[in-house]
Amino acid sequence: TRTPVNVTVTGAAGQIGYALLFRIASGQLLGADVPVSLRLLEIPQGLKAAEGTAMELDDCAFPLLRGIEITDDANAAFSGANVALLVGARPRTKGMERGDLLSANGGIFKPQGKAINDHAADDIKVLVVGNPANTNALIAQAAAPDVPAERFTAMTRLDHNRAISQLAAKTGAAVTDIKRLTIWGNHSATQYPDIFHAEIAGKNAAETVNDEQWLADTFIPTVAKRGAAIIEARGASSAASAANAAIDHVHTWVNGTPAGDWTSMGIPSDGSYGVPEGIISSFPVTTKDGRYEIVQGLDINDFSRARIDASVKELTEERDAVRELGLL
Ligand code: NDP
Repeated sequence: TRTPVNVTVTGAAGQIGYALLFRIASGQLLGADVPVSLRLLEIPQGLKAAEGTAMELDDCAFPLLRGIEITDDANAAFSGANVALLVGARPRTKGMERGDLLSANGGIFKPQGKAINDHAADDIKVLVVGNPANTNALIAQAAAPDVPAERFTAMTRLDHNRAISQLAAKTGAAVTDIKRLTIWGNHSATQYPDIFHAEIAGKNAAETVNDEQWLADTFIPTVAKRGAAIIEARGASSAASAANAAIDHVHTWVNGTPAGDWTSMGIPSDGSYGVPEGIISSFPVTTKDGRYEIVQGLDINDFSRARIDASVKELTEERDAVRELGLL
């Protein structure tokens, strides 16, 4: 029998955690033939709720679930971890300045990065979901100098999936007909969903839509503000779709992108497309055998350039701010 893959989830007792753990345990993260062992990290106040979730996981009798450990100790939680989903983060509360938010999250992601550095398995793959995800991923990565930098990624897959869904609704296409969509930049309101290289049933998406005003005034803001629209409608945040995107992100990273398509991931920049090296920004990537590569050679028009630059500027400002706080 196969050795289980150790999957660590932080903030496991939260909303996203609740939507995520059952899908991991059922085999949707890594594959229907891959046994998993879960490690749930919570703050002390979250441990009891995590125990309750673990009771429910037991009650599912998932054939692939080989163990659940619950802890408030990051060193224990990341010990031998092959996949780490960093979901728990300090949300922005009323009146909180950006600097306060970044420093509160530095207090979470710096020690977690160090614990990953010291205790995770050699093949560790990290996905940061907790916001500000790109910069939290950068903080964790900087605290893990012995782990290859490219193992630290941030989630823009929810934005990617939202953009596909909006484009399908606009054109009447099936979501499966839409390929090569890209989210560039930060997982924030400045993100840029790019349809200029996307295809709908093999035809260029921007040409098919042929409506730059819709693109600028409807599509881009709808994708960027979808989280707020869901809070407004449901009275609660988009936890299930966020969990779904986390599953998609890791599944694609491990199992590969389909031929002729790509996905979007927040990854450390290698300087491609004028994005400063080192910041964690979303790019179009293909994946194969557990590795990803930035799609090269795309022609970036003026419309796209301005929007990519604006989002990247925000990321460099966040990086500078956490650097000033001594978190890098
Ligand atoms: P959620 O599970 O709803 O969200 C967790 C994080 O994911 C937040 O930072 C949130 O950012 C982010 N996020 C990213 N995409 C989305 C999306 N589409 N919709 C909603 N959130 C998104 O938060 P809860 O408060 O329910 O749970 C957090 C848990 O983390 C708690 O149980 C808490 O105890 C724990 N925690 C653990 C820590 C640790 O392990 N050291 C540290 C801090 C908290 P945003 O808020 O900006 O939307």
